[in-house]
Amino acid sequence: MADCLFCKIRDGQIPATKVHEDDLCFAIRDIKPQAPTHILVIPKRHISTLNDVQAEDAPLVGHLLVVAKTIAAGEGHGEPGWRTVFNVNEQAGQTVFHIHLHVLGGRAFGWPPG
Ligand code: AMP
Ligand code: ZN
Repeated sequence: MADCLFCKIRDGQIPATKVHEDDLCFAIRDIKPQAPTHILVIPKRHISTLNDVQAEDAPLVGHLLVVAKTIAAGEGHGEPGWRTVFNVNEQAGQTVFHIHLHVLGGRAFGWPPG
């Protein structure tokens, strides 16, 4: 997608602090962290929102979760715990329309989320 921030980061056109990369996805530190650890796990393939995910994307979405878990563990958050979030569309807070899993850790989180 020509005008997509995360496609541009994927292609090296915009800099970011990459903490993981494999065939299917990459992960970067959020530019405006909402917790001591705030990392975004992003599929390399452009998918605009979770609403666009199809049944055949299940292995990809599952992979994002496994990468998120591995990153959270590596950052030391497996215990006591961490938070993962997909924001879907504007009302839920999505601002970048290329799906990404937020990985947040290093502080307590309230429920329900704001
Ligand atoms: P969302 O609001 O769920 O779409 O999440 C988008 C996230 O991307 C926000 O947490 C932003 O802080 C983050 N973000 C925006 N621009 C950049 C950037 N250039 N590098 C890293 N993270 C970014
Ligand atoms: Zn994109």
